Amino acid sequence: MIIVMSHGATREQIDAVIARVREVGLSAETIIGEERSIIGVIGGSAYEYREAFSHLEGIQEITPISKPFKRASREFRREDTIVEVGTALIGGDNPPVMMAGPCSVENLEMLLETAHFVKSLGAKILRGGAFKPRTSPYSFQGLGEAALQMLAEAREQTGLAVVSEVVTPADVELVARYVDVLQIGTRNSQNFALLSEAGRSGKAVLLKRGMSATIEEWLLAAEYVLSQGNRNVILCERGIRTFEPATRFTLDLNAVPLVRELSHLPVIVDPSQGTGRWSLVRPMALAGVAAGAHGLIVEVHPRPGQAMSDGGQSLGFPEFERLSRELGRLTEALAPQPAAG
Ligand code: PEP
Ligand code: MN
Repeated sequence: MIIVMSHGATREQIDAVIARVREVGLSAETIIGEERSIIGVIGGSAYEYREAFSHLEGIQEITPISKPFKRASREFRREDTIVEVGTALIGGDNPPVMMAGPCSVENLEMLLETAHFVKSLGAKILRGGAFKPRTSPYSFQGLGEAALQMLAEAREQTGLAVVSEVVTPADVELVARYVDVLQIGTRNSQNFALLSEAGRSGKAVLLKRGMSATIEEWLLAAEYVLSQGNRNVILCERGIRTFEPATRFTLDLNAVPLVRELSHLPVIVDPSQGTGRWSLVRPMALAGVAAGAHGLIVEVHPRPGQAMSDGGQSLGFPEFERLSRELGRLTEALAPQPAAG
């Protein structure tokens, strides 16, 4: 439930409410606002405890959070969360942030070549898989820690922040040592031990939607990270399984504006996994931004035909250049117009 404090509530009154929340065995998260402060109360059936607060001063109203996800909900936090990663601000009214790079880190040379190129076109975050959760155990599994070292070297040389996937709780500490953002992949989106461990890492978390996860399940997955005290969660729509085999997945762009209504968290789009075809990546990237995405994560490879994973959905440099150019024009067109007069 949400306890909304009245306009003139004092710090002592707020503290008294928080103390009472803890006394009845619930946990509290306080958002001190300019207008009024809000205390989010979390626990099994928190709203049933509302009488426990009826004699405390400074409370304006107590309302239930109707959604099963609490910390992720718009009711819990009205303002958009903005996640700061390196020089990027992801969320709110900030222009869309481009994250780009190869599906897998294959060697230092191709990584640096890609990093310098995407940086020159305005990307703020370099992606690159070190641990690859492949459908087949015989496919390339990634270079592991060696790839993480290459990502760190690319960050050093370019100033780009880096994002890479972590596939098991035991590796969170290792991956967190090298990257700015931990990626949780679609196949692990309901690996609750991994989500909690990533939440405890102190790093921002890029949470892909499970390919068969409902929006509610996806937001509940985010709740696992948030409930560890980590507010820096970036949601990523990356396509869902449908009856349609013509594309690898069906990019669910409904999810973008809907999640923005339901949650304060930033949401980005991955048109590479979402389509599985490089020729569809640019149009669907632009469509994602038009739908309100706070950013994109795009697979780019210097020679897609030779990629060790996902070459068919990776953009070559000329295609990425075209996407960047068109994204710039779209961003300008979507920017809030200055008030007339
Ligand atoms: C990827 O980003 O390369 C990837 C494997 O993503 P997903 O988990 O969305 O399939
Ligand atoms: Mn990939």
